[in-house]
Amino acid sequence: MFSEYEIWWVTGAQLLYGGDAVVKVDAHSREMVDGLNNSGRLPVKIVYKGTANSSREVTDIMRSANNDNRCAGVITWMHTFSPAKMWIHGLQQLSKPLLHFHTQYNAEIPWDTMDMDFMNLNQSAHGDREFGHICARLGIRRKVVVGHWTDAATQDRIAVWQRVAAGWADSQDMLILRFGDQMNNVAVTDGDKVEAESQLGYHVDYCPVSKLMDYFKKVTDEDTKALVDEYFRLYEHKPELEDPATEEYKKVWNAAKAELALRAILKDKGAKGFTTNFDDLGTHDINDPHFIGFDQIPGLASQRLMAEGYGFGAEGDWKSAALYRTVWFMSQGLPKGCSFLEDYTLNFDGANSSILQAHMLEVCPLIAAQRPRLEVHFLGIGVRKSLTARLVFTSKEGPGVTATVVDMGNRFRLIVNDVNCIASKPLPKLPVASALWIPEPDFATGAAAWILAGGTHHSCFSYDLTPEYWEDYAEMAGIEMLRIDAKTTIPEFKDRIRWNDVYYLLKK
Ligand code: MN
Repeated sequence: MFSEYEIWWVTGAQLLYGGDAVVKVDAHSREMVDGLNNSGRLPVKIVYKGTANSSREVTDIMRSANNDNRCAGVITWMHTFSPAKMWIHGLQQLSKPLLHFHTQYNAEIPWDTMDMDFMNLNQSAHGDREFGHICARLGIRRKVVVGHWTDAATQDRIAVWQRVAAGWADSQDMLILRFGDQMNNVAVTDGDKVEAESQLGYHVDYCPVSKLMDYFKKVTDEDTKALVDEYFRLYEHKPELEDPATEEYKKVWNAAKAELALRAILKDKGAKGFTTNFDDLGTHDINDPHFIGFDQIPGLASQRLMAEGYGFGAEGDWKSAALYRTVWFMSQGLPKGCSFLEDYTLNFDGANSSILQAHMLEVCPLIAAQRPRLEVHFLGIGVRKSLTARLVFTSKEGPGVTATVVDMGNRFRLIVNDVNCIASKPLPKLPVASALWIPEPDFATGAAAWILAGGTHHSCFSYDLTPEYWEDYAEMAGIEMLRIDAKTTIPEFKDRIRWNDVYYLLKK
């Protein structure tokens, strides 16, 4: 929740112009912070922390920011010329995301009346350059936003950064539970979990499926019945599905039980995301009369838990689980939705060639274009080949962005692709939820660039997050970002990969 966090605002000043000037600077800063908070455009509240007039004051504020769990980031603004040597120690210690706001209290120059006193109080034109220099020299990662503080477009850029900063804070306290291991032999979804915690903040633990089954056993019939009834209220379905005598009803019942067990263990462990593996669902002998286990992967549960904000990655894909949680967190309150998706199958159709996005079952209903339909069908993969419940829908049309993180061995690489969702069609013989998109700049270039970059077949998609979110995320994390968009050409993209290889070789 954004309400759990706040963003600190620190105004850079100095005492050269006397105490009166600083009093005015302080009053201007308060007015600006109030103006931003009252704009209705910022998801996270800004808290004004006063002017910083000396190295000691800067360092004290940055240390406090580090130690305050509510503080998700710091905005700095140099009202007057703030000699930047006084920022060195504080910036070196700051461990929270930084936004350097290049703005000014006054908007237009009052040509006829401006005197030196006025100028001294509207000095960010040079004060922010002094500050920018020290950030550049120290290699401080930050976002620079330029614009007047009352301007809506400027406020929106701050809002993007706030959402990412809060998502980043959320991921620093994130536990991902792996029910079962990585799908055997798969490279792209695997990676270095130690490096992930060190670089990206989240922690990944293994949780035996037998532990999950302890929760499964404890789910009551009463709770299961209530959830099944909720499914029937929420989703389209054929009336016969409600007949308790049928095998299909039993499968809906089992799906509800699986969802309750998963939610309970995630809550108990304080986990924000999870992975599953179709080869590990409890006991392996389905004919064992005493067997306790899922009768297929908990697909419906994964769909609904994703919509609730839990990170999810299929086949043990913990990087996608963590990334999806962050995508969901950053998108809170935005209208069109997000999902974990997989490049499923290609549709060659000339200029409209596209990629069908789906999964065995696990697509988040937040992206649905229509009320999802609850259906039960056979799923013949994994340790338990069985009928199983799922939500079926097609996704909204329109532009979006999909993202993935891969482990390149010496670094994490974030790959981001602008895509355009076009109308997907129902798949009567493959009843799963789906999206259909054409990647930017076109199908052939977009897919080739993604493949050249080593991108996964799994990605985290959002209609609402623009590439600016990912730029801010990569900056906070300090990881490589490769963007594939309308301007991408393959020769330039290949060069960027080569140059980045050298950069990260030198950086380590
Ligand atoms: Mn998959």
